[in-house]
Amino acid sequence: TDDVTTVALDAWVRRFAELIAQERDHLTELDSAIGDADHGANLDRGMTAAVASLDDLGPAGAGPMLTKVGMTLVSTVGGASGPLYGTLFLRMGTVLGDVPSVSAEQLGAALRAGLDGVVARGKAQAEDKTMYDAFAPAVDAFEAGLKDGLGLADALGRARAAADEGRDATTPMLARKGRASYLGERSVGHQDPGATSVALLVAAAADTLR
Ligand code: ADP
Ligand code: MG
Ligand code: MG
Repeated sequence: TDDVTTVALDAWVRRFAELIAQERDHLTELDSAIGDADHGANLDRGMTAAVASLDDLGPAGAGPMLTKVGMTLVSTVGGASGPLYGTLFLRMGTVLGDVPSVSAEQLGAALRAGLDGVVARGKAQAEDKTMYDAFAPAVDAFEAGLKDGLGLADALGRARAAADEGRDATTPMLARKGRASYLGERSVGHQDPGATSVALLVAAAADTLR
C-alpha cells in the first residue's frame, strides 16, 4: 500500500540529516553571499541533534516523532531557520497525531500544515526569495499528483522536481524577507540558502517515503 510507516518517517529525517551534512559547506557558501554564512552549520547542528533525539525517543507514533524533531530544531538551531524548520516539523506532528502509519493524503495534509506554519511564523509570500519558494511548489505538486491519481512515490517525484525548480527560481529574485533583504538589489543573482535546504528535505522524502 501507499501508507507511510513510522519506520519510513524515521528514515526521512535521517536522510535529510545526511543530505544536510553532505551539503553543509555548500549551504554555508550560499549564505555567505546573501547572509551571515551559518545556514549549513545551523541545520547540520540541528539535524544531528534531531537524529540523536529520535534515538533517545525509541519507537513512537508519527506525530510524537515529528514533534520531537521540531522541538529539537527550535532548541538547537538559532536564527531564522530554527523557528521556521521547527514550526514546519511541529505542525506536521500535530496534524498526524499518535498513529503508526499515515496515508499519502495524510502526508499531504501534514506537508500543507507545515507550509502554513512556516508562513504563520515568517510571513513570507511567493517570490520573497525564501524557503517558501521551494517548499510551496513542492506541496502544491504533491497534492496535485495525488489528485491526478499518482501513487506516493510518483507524487513525491513531482514534488522533488517542483522543489528543485522553485529553488533555482530564487536566484534572480530580490529578497524581501530575512537577512538577505537587508542587501536589497545586491541579493539578486544568488540562490537562496533556505530554498536550497528545503529542497533537500523534499528530496529526502522522495528517497525514503514509499
Ligand atoms: P539567519 O538568517 O538567521 O542566519 P539561516 O541562515 O539559518 O538564518 O537561514 C536563512 C534562510 O532562512 C534564508 O535563506 C531563507 O530561506 C529563510 N528565511 C529567512 N527569513 C524567512 C521568513 N521570514 N520566512 C521564510 N523563510 C525565511
Ligand atoms: Mg544565516
Ligand atoms: Mg545567523
